Amino acid sequence: MKRFWRYSVAGLALVAAAAVAPAQAQPSDPLVGSPGLGDPYYPLDGNGGYDATHYDVAISYDPPTHHLIGAARLDVVATQALRTFNLDYAGPAVTKVTVNNLPAWFERTDEHELVITPLLPLLPGLPFSVQVEYAGAPPEGEDTGWFNSPSGGAFVAGEPHSATTWYPLNDTPLDKATFTLRATVPQEWEVMSNGLKTEDTLANGQRTVVWESRQPVIGYLTTIAIEKFEFLEQRRANGMPLLSAFAPDALAAKENEQRLPEILDLSEELYGPYPFDAAGGIYVDTELEFSLETQTRPIYAPWTDLQTVVHEIAHQWWGDSMSVKQWSDICLNECFASYTADYLWPERKEGKDVDALYRETLTEFHGNPKFWRVKLQDPGVGREFTSVYYRGPLFLHALRRTMGDDAFFPAIRDFVSAHRYGNASMPEFREFMRTRTPHDLTGFFAAWLDTEEPPADEYLYPGTLRS
Ligand SMILES: [Zn+2]
Repeated sequence: MKRFWRYSVAGLALVAAAAVAPAQAQPSDPLVGSPGLGDPYYPLDGNGGYDATHYDVAISYDPPTHHLIGAARLDVVATQALRTFNLDYAGPAVTKVTVNNLPAWFERTDEHELVITPLLPLLPGLPFSVQVEYAGAPPEGEDTGWFNSPSGGAFVAGEPHSATTWYPLNDTPLDKATFTLRATVPQEWEVMSNGLKTEDTLANGQRTVVWESRQPVIGYLTTIAIEKFEFLEQRRANGMPLLSAFAPDALAAKENEQRLPEILDLSEELYGPYPFDAAGGIYVDTELEFSLETQTRPIYAPWTDLQTVVHEIAHQWWGDSMSVKQWSDICLNECFASYTADYLWPERKEGKDVDALYRETLTEFHGNPKFWRVKLQDPGVGREFTSVYYRGPLFLHALRRTMGDDAFFPAIRDFVSAHRYGNASMPEFREFMRTRTPHDLTGFFAAWLDTEEPPADEYLYPGTLRS
């Protein structure tokens, strides 16, 4: 994610009053799957008792009426005996739920819990399928992730929550699964999503499009965008097809998107092979405060510039292929995406003196307590998308100058490669980097990641940074 106001330290006031997380609900019955996985910021996200392996989501959407009809089938494996389990869901009214094709009871509780009781209990270690049918207008707005566009279309974007607004799921970074979307719309509309488009057919005035994510994906990184798109098709030197789409008032963004092959090439040089089998972008013309790294095909707000594209593409490694374990690890996503876009691209492509950029930024903000008051590691619920954008690149640049390029770049590439299609945490990152340099990074990491004030000069100006 990249917010339009990312350099506005004044914007911090907006998030200073963070919400208090509710205590995690503890099921007292051993046959009841936990309603949450206990993330310190979002304890009810995700659910216990099963592991999702594949989603097959069928959507029919009518732009004039905003009416959506959905049928989501989840293939899952029980990890405990289950009499009752939960999905995360906050979308239109549920009309029917079946488990292994047998009717199941269901009820909706809390903000986003769909509690399901199958006719027969489920046995640990065995696969089962859940089908949920639903219909109605999705709840619209920034707090849900479903946006209606000026043309009458719609799209989904939101982090950490947005998937629950259009299909039921195990909404946690910890449960990755492959994903198929089958969407039907009136034939004059187009549908964009993640991965590869494997079908696009017209029949009886309707268009049906199938999109497949063959590499695993998590909830907030899935999207659907229904629009009267114009397309840009490109190809990487290795033959990978690139498909990008532009809403009617977003056509000017084509010029930046034409540099996608070059952006992917630089990211690969830095972080290893691109982890997915498709790439592109979805440019909307709805006022949106953020752009988002939806997998293989980011959603771009109208203010998107070239550096925003570089940021969201870097996320395909830092956030998408390798995801956080908990939301307190958000620096793994945003510090790296921001460093790639704000330092590495300007340095490698535009010949910019990034040491000078680092010093200028410090000169401007060193004495500003607001700049330092949100920690990079464990910033607090509601503050995930603040300091990571402006402190994050400084932290990584100082780390790079402490370790030296010959140690830093191979180490970060090895770290992200080792967690491909998986999860990682900030404590794991710190531990890993310590094994890759003779320098003792204990004080450095504590000063940069755990405090609410500027690091001491020895950590702020390592190596050649003071001059
Ligand atoms: Zn981001």
